[in-house]
Amino acid sequence: MAKSKVFLVEPEGAWQKIDKLFSRSGIKDKIDPGDIVAIKLHFGELGNTRYIHPIFARKLVDLVKEAGGEPFLTDTTTLYKHTRETLFGYLETAARNGFTRETMGCPIIIADGLRGTNGEWIELASFSKFKRVKIARAIYESDFLISLAHITLHEAAGFAASIKNIAMGCATKETKLAMHASEAKPVYNEEKCTRCLRCIKVCPGEAFYEEEDRIKYEPAKCIGCGECIAWCPSGAITVPWSSVLAYDVQRGLVDGFKGVVSIFGEKVGFINLGFDITPDCDCFGRTSLPITPDIGIVASEDPLACDKASYDLVIGAPSYPGSRADKKGIKKGEDKIKSLCPATEPAKFWKLCQKMGLGSLNYETEIIR
Ligand code: SF4
Ligand code: SF4
Repeated sequence: MAKSKVFLVEPEGAWQKIDKLFSRSGIKDKIDPGDIVAIKLHFGELGNTRYIHPIFARKLVDLVKEAGGEPFLTDTTTLYKHTRETLFGYLETAARNGFTRETMGCPIIIADGLRGTNGEWIELASFSKFKRVKIARAIYESDFLISLAHITLHEAAGFAASIKNIAMGCATKETKLAMHASEAKPVYNEEKCTRCLRCIKVCPGEAFYEEEDRIKYEPAKCIGCGECIAWCPSGAITVPWSSVLAYDVQRGLVDGFKGVVSIFGEKVGFINLGFDITPDCDCFGRTSLPITPDIGIVASEDPLACDKASYDLVIGAPSYPGSRADKKGIKKGEDKIKSLCPATEPAKFWKLCQKMGLGSLNYETEIIR
């Protein structure tokens, strides 16, 4: 079986070598003149200081333009209540973190629309957890997709890089809810309810209703669409985070990823940035020390090879002094992901990804000099 090719730029002087990486990894040649190119990244939560450095995104934007494409930078709103929960909040956060049309030289588009539910359903021919996923509208309508992922750990996904970036980050709130929650049903807190009645208006399952001047909720009627979470203004309706099972999330990621890439065929590319590799994902509004020294930039046309190579580099690196990995005494070569995210199952996840056709675990690395 042929090995997938993975390209690595080592951390020192990495920015200067991105153009070579862009060409060697095959991404440049697949962009046709006039292609609308969605560059999917995470703009960082407010208060987090170790998200993707904007100069990496700007460099990629310039390279896509030189290749004849029309790039835009994109992400979707979050399920949880913080600064990126709405389109307006996310654009404000992105701007504060350095991502604006002026600094990036292209539009910043929040792909899932005003309420986080604007998208297109994709039916999956084979699946691990659910048979259809809803893809955010602006990404669905693009010609080409580049994943510009920040390598981090994630308490439920384990290792977060391109597969997580695309699977969770290109989905609307309905599919995000299905990925996170085993039951995929929200929870209702009457104490926070202001009785605005919006949930009653938007709920397709009639799970919310009014009775004797109170808002009642029957989870049995819920079909897991996520609309009520998007519309509730008071935080009275939330995701049942306590029911989240890590391997369940990982299975959902596989389906989400398959749905997104099925739209694009060969017109995809995967780039993982291994700088400031934190033990929490970029959705956290605070920052921890990285768990390893920087590993550089990994790129490939094969998303699984790209992520597995990144994972192997993280495991092969020493623990960063003073970090959570160092405090746990994790040695170079030991599985930092399994140790720091004990509920996750990295080995099972990689095998599932290969079985479900996401790519190959068999790869060879070429270092770009
Ligand atoms: S998730 Fe959808 S179906 Fe379930 S209660 Fe909320 S609006 Fe109703
Ligand atoms: S949308 Fe939220 S605040 Fe409004 S009635 Fe429903 S639960 Fe209460």
